[in-house]
Parts: sequence; C-alpha cells; structure tokens
Amino acid sequence: MSEPRSLDLGAPEEAYRVLARKYRPSDFTGLIGQEALVRTLSNAFATGRIAHAFMLTGVRGVGKTTTARIIARALNCIGPDGKRTEPTIHPCGVCDPCITIAESRNVDVQEMDAASNNGVDEVRQIIEAVRYAPASSRYKVYILDEVHMLSKPAFNAILKTLEEPPPHVKFIFATTEIRKVPVTVLSRCQRFDLRRIEAGELAQYLGQIAAKEKVEIEEGALALIARAAEGSARDALSLLDQAIAHNEKGAITAETMRQMLGLADRGRVLDLFEKVMKGDVPTALDDLAALYDSGADPLAVMQDLLEITHFLTRLKVAPAAQGFFDGASSEAKRAADLAAKLQVSSLTRAWQMLLKGLFEVRDAVRPISACEMALIRLAYAAELPPTDRLVKDLMDGGAPPRAAAPASAAPARGPVASSSVAPKGAPALNMAPAAESAPTLRGLEDIAAMAQKNSAPVLKVHIENDMHLVKLEAGRLEFRPSPRAPRSLAGDLQQKLRDWTGVRWTVSISNEPGQPTLAEAKKNAKAARIESVMQAPIVRAVLDRFPGAEIVAVRDIAQDEAPPEAPDASDS
Ligand SMILES: [Zn+2]
Repeated sequence: MSEPRSLDLGAPEEAYRVLARKYRPSDFTGLIGQEALVRTLSNAFATGRIAHAFMLTGVRGVGKTTTARIIARALNCIGPDGKRTEPTIHPCGVCDPCITIAESRNVDVQEMDAASNNGVDEVRQIIEAVRYAPASSRYKVYILDEVHMLSKPAFNAILKTLEEPPPHVKFIFATTEIRKVPVTVLSRCQRFDLRRIEAGELAQYLGQIAAKEKVEIEEGALALIARAAEGSARDALSLLDQAIAHNEKGAITAETMRQMLGLADRGRVLDLFEKVMKGDVPTALDDLAALYDSGADPLAVMQDLLEITHFLTRLKVAPAAQGFFDGASSEAKRAADLAAKLQVSSLTRAWQMLLKGLFEVRDAVRPISACEMALIRLAYAAELPPTDRLVKDLMDGGAPPRAAAPASAAPARGPVASSSVAPKGAPALNMAPAAESAPTLRGLEDIAAMAQKNSAPVLKVHIENDMHLVKLEAGRLEFRPSPRAPRSLAGDLQQKLRDWTGVRWTVSISNEPGQPTLAEAKKNAKAARIESVMQAPIVRAVLDRFPGAEIVAVRDIAQDEAPPEAPDASDS
C-alpha cells in the first residue's frame, strides 16, 4: 500500500486515506461479488447454527482478511444501544466492539499471521488463552491468516482445540493455499471459497467509488483497471488511487491508464496481429516498436496477442463469443472479419507459438528482442499453408508450396493473412462441379502420401505394393491390382479420395498391365543405381579383388554422415 497522500489544498485536517482503506467494507453488504458466502452465513446466523471455525480461501487480494474481520464484528456486535445479545449478519458499525475490531484493537479478537508465527509456541499461547472467557465480548475470535504456513506440530496443537472447542471461541482461518491445510483441520471448518470479482462487476464498483470521490474517469479506464486487478477489489482500488494521483487534469482517460499499466492499445495490438499473420514482418516490427515506445510492456503485448488469438478462435467456434473487445466496437467488427478469414489450424498454431514466445519474453534479458523474435517466427510460420491446404495444393499438381518469404518487398494491404487462408491460385474446390475441378495428382506417390497423412497406413501399403497405375487424371484413376490386392481396394480408395479431397473420384480396375507398383519402381531404381555404381572403375576394381562380394546398398555420403573433417590438417 502506498503512503497516504496528503491533500495539498483545501482541508488539511481531513488526511487523505487510501481508497482501499477508506472503502474497505465494514459489513457484508459492502462485500462485492461474494453473494454465496453472505447467503450461507445469513442462514447460519438466522438459525443460530454458527460454526466454530471458518476457513476462508481464495487468491491474494480477494478480501479474506476483510471478510474475517466482518465475521468477527458480526459475531460480537452489540448494536448501537448495546443491548444486542445475539450475533447479527448486519453489524452496526458504531458499537464499541464494531469499532475496536475494525481498528484491530479489540482484546477478544486476535489476529495472527501464520506466515510469521508458524511455531507451535504461538499456537500454544492461543490454546492456553482459549480456556478463559472473553474479556468483554460475546466471543473470543482468533483470526489466523495464511494458516497453511503453520507447522505440523502447530496444526496438531490447534486440532485438539478444534475437536472440542469451548463455546465462547471462534476461529477464522484464511489461506491462499487450501491444499496445504490438513484435511483433519479442514473437516472441522465451515469453508468459504471467495471468488475473484468479475471484471465487469469490479469496473462498476470502481465507477461508484470514483463518483463518490468526485473523480472523472472514462469507462474504458475503469475497465482497464478492473482487468489489471484480476478480480481483487483491493488491487483495483489501489490502482484507482494511483490513477488519481497520476492524473494531471480533466478526466482520467483510458490512454492514461494504458500508459500507467504498461498496456498496449488493444486496437493497435490487433493491427499487429493482423500484420504478423499476414507475414508482413517489416510493418509488424514497426508497429511493435511504436507500441514499445508508447510504454507498452513486451510481456503485456504477448499476453494481448495470446488473448486475441484465444478470442478469435472462440469467435470461430462460437460466433457470438464475447470478451476482449467490446461487443459494439469497431475492433470487435474487425476481429470478427479476421476470425472468418483465419483457419482454426492457423490460430492454434499461433497460440502455441505465442505461448512459447511469452515464456521467452518473460525470461529474456531484453524482452523486446525476444518479443520481436517470437513475432518474426510466427510471421514466417503464418506463411506456411496449413496441412490440409498443403494436401490440396499437392493435388492441384502445382509446385510444392514453400514457405515463401514474407511479403517484405511489397507489403500487400489486401485482405488479412491472404497467404495463409487462400494461397494464390487455389481453386474453390467445393464450389465448382466435381468432375471439372477434380485436382490432378502427379502419381501414386502423392496418393500414398495423402494416405499417410490421413492416418490410413493399411491403404498406403496397398497403394504402394498392389497398384499398377494405368491412368490418372482429374477425378479418375484406373489401375491393375496385384494378385494380393484386397477386392475392396478400388472402392475403398474411391471413398477415401473423396473424403480427402472433397471431390468425387472414379476409381476403376483395368486389364491393361499398367506401370510397375511403387514398391517395384523403388526396387528397380535401387537396382539401376547399383548397376550404375558397378560401372564405376573403382567399384569394379574392388569387386574384382573380392570375389563373391556384392553391393547391397548405395548411399549418398552427403545424406549420411559426412567424412570426418580434419581441421588441423591445413595447419600442419
Ligand atoms: Zn456493532
């Protein structure tokens, strides 16, 4: 918590209190986002069945200690007239117990931080004191924060008291790590899971506080604070405090908040994402540099890129998906267009690469460099056609698709990610009449490769070994089966080709001899190679010297291991 800021003008007697302290809720109605807890406690208080021990769990800053104090007040409030005899879910806030508990000076309400007092001695002191009646209050209340930090003997000591608690004693435990609390302790507590406050709810709450403080602040700025606070009202109020302190004049704008939080403008991050996915590296790097110069943290940029990827993917599967961009904003519209153009495979690949990049940026000495590298990598990968497109391109008989250099020479301002969503010359396969547009396969090799890709290994083996190709043209395949070929081969292949290519195929049996099978061709090629090698004088000489020797394989040295270099040779 920052130091209290004194108001320089106006009322010097009214010292500035940080918002988080000023607006710390004093009763359950002020506790936003914890309706379930309030309901359960209300019921318990109404029926007089109040647990002896409570376990409050939740992430840091979610309000566990505040809640614990409110429960303590609820247990001990005596009402404005001092006549209340029962606990109440609506502590008055003005009676002596209410005030002293809020100020942490009530003798019967002890707060202990287990993180610094994890010893059995401290717990023993509590257990000793537990035997005596409260000094002035209805209950002795022990608030143990970060209770999971207690040592094992300390837990054991406390367990005895929990098993037979004196009627005038209540324990309130708080922890961020519920799994480290022994089950024996947990089972004796009423457990409440304090949830993170949703960003929308938190933003609304902040708006109310800002209004009370007579601070002008843009909705967008509130949303940014709420998001950055990740569900913690305390953090959100603290950020709002900072924003008020930072602001020079006029309303606090989203831009101010972005700079303060080191966040990038989401619209600009969307621009960046578009360019990366388009493979437009130079412009993308310019964009990144501009974001960086305006104060955006590279890690935050990576996080935003990941969130955009996630959001676009969700849009893809559920077009009504909300989040990230405000529903009606121009960014939301652009995101929807972008989602329509990108393929799920590209998005999932982008996700993986960005996630890897995020860790690199986090660990890098120069995060901005790591961020650049990650984006360059993604830009190049975005140029690679997705695997399904790769197969289609193969079947078009065109040149094998390569990772063309990103459009560095001429940054096309055309449709986003055009290269990855619609490679040049790709015909609209599904639209045109099947017979006309059936792609040309170059040979059985392509079909076998396709079988391999589509996890049809058995069919692949038959294609390689049992098919003598007679004729192959658009949508039409004729072959002579080998004697071992299954009868269903033609039918199976016809069906599969249709599945894989999306167009109708006619696969028929021919009586013509056709070409050798792929396996035969391979064997023949190998034989031919050996034959040619045998013609080489040196090989001839070796074979002559070793009668009975034969060549079993021919290997390219370049493809296997290169002969060991002798780096020293040149020196000597
Ligand atoms: Zn009270």
